Amino acid sequence: MATHIETEQTVLAYKITLWITLLLSLIQLGTFSFVARSISLGGDALHSAIDCFILYGSMCIARLPRGMTKEQRAEREGWWNFVAILSLFFSAFFIGHEGWQRIHTPPPTLFNTEAVMTVAVVSLFVNYVCYRALNAVHELHHDTKHKVNIAHIAADFGMSFIVLVSAGCVALFKTPAFDGYGALAVATGLVLLGIHISSGHKH
Ligand SMILES: [Zn+2]
Repeated sequence: MATHIETEQTVLAYKITLWITLLLSLIQLGTFSFVARSISLGGDALHSAIDCFILYGSMCIARLPRGMTKEQRAEREGWWNFVAILSLFFSAFFIGHEGWQRIHTPPPTLFNTEAVMTVAVVSLFVNYVCYRALNAVHELHHDTKHKVNIAHIAADFGMSFIVLVSAGCVALFKTPAFDGYGALAVATGLVLLGIHISSGHKH
């Protein structure tokens, strides 16, 4: 059983991670909307927004009164995860579709690849900071959900890396279709993430 201090520490770790992720998703969404219409970046932006939702849920569950039974907690957690998984699958479908279109009907002009690459580097850094923050939580408090969250951030790192590489390829080969391939890879990552979260919950 976690002590009061450990619970506080967990809530604080989630709070820090949540604010940083919220800021990141705003930067990504802003860049996608006003600076560079990279579908891969748009996918990562949607994904960061879903992450905020998941983190907020984890924080609320960590904060639930201790008087609640395990079953009551699990039920709330189940609902929270259900919505998160559904959003991940929907955004994967949307991003996959947009990516497919970009491959088959590439836009005549390239987007601002420098902006996309800069944002991707920022999000790689942010993912690393969040990973450290969640890992700093006391070992005893590393329950299944916490482990799922840590594995999730590691996966996020991979997705930001895809955004960086695909924008780099667009710039290097002057071919916007690479953004479409990146988007398909991000969409696959979102589906895998959804599956991972749903299987992590059942254990
Ligand atoms: Zn994520």
